[in-house]
Amino acid sequence: TKWVYSFGSGLNEGRADMRNLLGGKGANLAEMAANGLPVPPGFTITTEVCSAFYENGRKYPDALKAQVDAALQRIEQSMGLRFGDPEAPLLVSVRSGARVSMPGMMDTVLNLGLNDQTVEGLARSSGDARFAWDSYRRFIQMYGSVVMGVPHHHFEDVLEQFKRANSVEDDTAITAGQWRAIVVDYHHIITTHTGAEFPTNPQDQLWGAIGAVFGSWMNPRANTYRKLHEIPASWGTAVNVQSMVFGNMGDDCATGVCFTRDPSTGENIFYGEYLINAQGEDVVAGIRTPQPMACARAEAGQHPMETALPQAYGELLRVRSLLETHYKDMQDIEFTVQRNVLYILQTRNGKRTAAAALKIAIDMAREGLITQEEAIQRVPAASLDQLLHPTLDPKAERVQLTRGLPASPGAAAGAVVFTAEECEARAAKGEDVILVRIETSPEDVHGMHAARGVLTTRGGMTSHAAVVARGMGRVCVAGAGSIHVDYAAGSLNVGSHTVKEGEWITLDGGTGAVYLGRVPTIEPVLSDDFNTLMGWADAVRRLGVRANAETPEDARTARRFGAEGIGLARTEHMFFGPDRIGFVRQMIIADEESVRQKAIAALLPFQREDFASLFRIMAGLPVTVRLLDPPLHEFLPHAEAEMAEVAQALGKSVDDVRTRCAALAETNPMLGHRGCRLGLTSPEIYAMQVRALIQAAVMVEKELGKPIHPEIMIPLVATKAELATTRRAAEDEIARVLKEEGTNLNYSIGTMIELPRAALQADQIAEYADFFSFGTNDLTQTAFGLSRDDAGSFLPYYVDHGLLPRDPFVSIDRDGVGALVRLGVERGRQTAPDLKLGICGEHGGDPDSIAFFDEVGLDYVSCSPFRVPVARLAAAQAAL
Ligand code: ADP
Ligand code: MG
Ligand code: MG
Repeated sequence: TKWVYSFGSGLNEGRADMRNLLGGKGANLAEMAANGLPVPPGFTITTEVCSAFYENGRKYPDALKAQVDAALQRIEQSMGLRFGDPEAPLLVSVRSGARVSMPGMMDTVLNLGLNDQTVEGLARSSGDARFAWDSYRRFIQMYGSVVMGVPHHHFEDVLEQFKRANSVEDDTAITAGQWRAIVVDYHHIITTHTGAEFPTNPQDQLWGAIGAVFGSWMNPRANTYRKLHEIPASWGTAVNVQSMVFGNMGDDCATGVCFTRDPSTGENIFYGEYLINAQGEDVVAGIRTPQPMACARAEAGQHPMETALPQAYGELLRVRSLLETHYKDMQDIEFTVQRNVLYILQTRNGKRTAAAALKIAIDMAREGLITQEEAIQRVPAASLDQLLHPTLDPKAERVQLTRGLPASPGAAAGAVVFTAEECEARAAKGEDVILVRIETSPEDVHGMHAARGVLTTRGGMTSHAAVVARGMGRVCVAGAGSIHVDYAAGSLNVGSHTVKEGEWITLDGGTGAVYLGRVPTIEPVLSDDFNTLMGWADAVRRLGVRANAETPEDARTARRFGAEGIGLARTEHMFFGPDRIGFVRQMIIADEESVRQKAIAALLPFQREDFASLFRIMAGLPVTVRLLDPPLHEFLPHAEAEMAEVAQALGKSVDDVRTRCAALAETNPMLGHRGCRLGLTSPEIYAMQVRALIQAAVMVEKELGKPIHPEIMIPLVATKAELATTRRAAEDEIARVLKEEGTNLNYSIGTMIELPRAALQADQIAEYADFFSFGTNDLTQTAFGLSRDDAGSFLPYYVDHGLLPRDPFVSIDRDGVGALVRLGVERGRQTAPDLKLGICGEHGGDPDSIAFFDEVGLDYVSCSPFRVPVARLAAAQAAL
């Protein structure tokens, strides 16, 4: 077996597409060397050696040693130096490199091959003793900490102490003699902490470092990182051994890191940092202040590389364009300049912000570097979220109070309030408010709507607060467990710190951070690039994209973001308005039919106006209205004053009202008296909703002179009979309204598929449905037998311990819940080939789930308004 691949020594055995075998770093070093770029010669020990090493009880394959020796000889020949030569030693770096870059892996060891003899040879052959001893002390420190496990700070302490005692500020001012003394101390540190001598034989050093790289593959930090990022342990890491080039040989030497474009804005400008007379990671280590690359980017007093090292800079500009053209993506390049000669030590696709990803993709497509399809694939769909919300001003100072879960993105500042009522009252006066609750319930929705942001101390990413806030585009930090809320005192505490009602806090829903006071935010601007990308995405996607929206504001947002209709308008959210909740309560509690009918009649105009405003905003696009879904007790009064109010309106005693409320309580409301069960037992509620809907449609159709096509959706259907009966009742009511209005209307009636039985019986149910909308939230709850509101106490454990790959409420469980969806699609279409099929759960905005919905052949997804662009892009990516 071939275990070792050479590069840059007149032989380039690897290529960029061999990253699985050679790791990302090794594959790209070979690719660059083969393309004539100045890469110091070296070789890569493959990831297969790593796997073999662990399979054979931490032993190397037999042939490895000979292959390494041969490859090392090639480097020696090409450099004209010998490894361990006391006169003019070849030095190498040993660098780890997995398929994907992985923090937690072994750090790089530089200057390997030095010992008390070779350092003298290096001093002589280079004519620079300071450089030689600087390299040696670096090597002992790196090898000592990385390979021998001596904590870093012991070395740093010695150096700091030395600098203080000798009044030296800059490492570069330390002389050869001084470094020599420090090296003696470093040797002491090693023997004190390990009880062993520092290895003097370069071969021992080399195999020690190689062993440390392979050993680090299974260290706890690397294991944790792999688990978090779903990287299989079987991939293994490669090891790169490479001839050293030196950036620490004087003022015509340097080391640096650069990006072919600006990684934070995406602008097509050369961006990066470098340091004169430095080595390795000094640039990121913060020992000295790095300098900019280009004059155009330099501020007064800085020393851009363009003027300091013009020759190497010119060469680097050439490499910049070569690499970008070659890799067709923004590159992150590590380089070193040795005596005015440039060497490239690494290139990879650069990490970037969402804004930069967007700009770079569009620019590169325009420059002809990539196709439009590639540009669509280049922007991570989920990252668009970041572009649509205000963010904290990066320059602003901030004091963090605590942290919770990043439940809904964006940044918001406001005065703390603890009740939905107070929230609404203050917001009505134009105040910015943050609603703080232990957890939220449907009753708080109007307060959440009025708030700039929502903070809860309990609940996870799919808690009520999180789902509703995402839906409304409100910032939300959920489950900030270190906060203690004292409703009675009107304050919250974190440790000894108290924030009272009315005091300001700032939430960062993108990170989960909570800050004291007001941290300034900046508004998002939807760039032309954004619209361009959306246009390209729309041209290739097959799936339609609608929004879940019931308020005019949400509906407008949805359209602004390009929704092609409303896939779910939840009528229950309309019931909580302060002007209607009273009638809703009377409707539920009244026991006399006439009183009840009066309350229902009072609700009708409200509902009609709700629907009409949605129809107006959507201007002819389809609008799916779901009839009342939650159990009635959710609307009941709790506070004494509310009870009294209802009692008075109904001419009953408060006790009567309380008894009636208690009677409506359910043990397991999620599986209780809700959805179409309610519609069947209290048909007058659905009749009112249908009437309001049809009247509104007729009205707006006349207003706009455009056909309005309402879609009536029946929730929680399990059997064909339920749908058949509910449908017939709705059709009767529609016929009555249309007769009264003396007109006709195109409408359709369909159902949610959100119970496993409904999915299994989809062929039967389809006889009575014009469309299906998969309610994947409830379908996930019912398929798993798992309550979303209670899952917070064990679901994270499942995910942490690999019992579930992901939270099934965030990304659809393809094997189980997804199988039900697939079955529902097949059986539904068996009966009705034209059946329109959509999905309206949280999954409608999740890119991975969208790919699945595309695959099973749904017609559209419906998601919260702020996720519409995400869904449009994800749908395009799924189609490509
Ligand atoms: P990481 O994966 O952490 O980026 P690298 O293996 O890229 O680690 O090494 C870090 C730095 O060490 C490089 O950016 C470069 O500055 C320096 N370095 C690595 N190998 C060499 C070498 N052969 N010659 C000079 N510098 C090197
Ligand atoms: Mg590093
Ligand atoms: Mg690197």
